[in-house]
Amino acid sequence: MAETIFAKIIRKEIPADIVYETDNVLAFKDINPQAPVHILIIPKTTDIATTKDIDSKIHAPLLGELFDTANKIAKDLGISESGYRIVINCGPDAGQEVYHLHLHLLGGRKMNWPPG
Ligand code: 5GP
Repeated sequence: MAETIFAKIIRKEIPADIVYETDNVLAFKDINPQAPVHILIIPKTTDIATTKDIDSKIHAPLLGELFDTANKIAKDLGISESGYRIVINCGPDAGQEVYHLHLHLLGGRKMNWPPG
């Protein structure tokens, strides 16, 4: 699997504005924010490129940790009550650019629906 920019961020080879980190997950500000709060939450493992690579038998605890992290950060950043959107793009039509699984945590403004 091709190396992504996120692998370099995990190894701290390139800088990122990290807001939360555990042994398994890393959360950092998106370099091109689409909302006042735009955080990327990623697993540190590099073997999940897209949602299609998820195997619930293997990854269920990790996915739980990713969502726990999103909810914790939303609380820490004061958008838990106002609401937020969690987005996972999968593949070209969804606009996925980085093939390393990531949750977008977006908030701090009113979101539109349907998304573009
Ligand atoms: P995707 O389109 O794959 O769902 O989202 C990838 C996201 O990663 C984009 O929102 C993009 O702005 C962000 N991104 C790409 N390269 C970097 C980087 O080097 N640093 C940070 N912090 N975000 C990045």
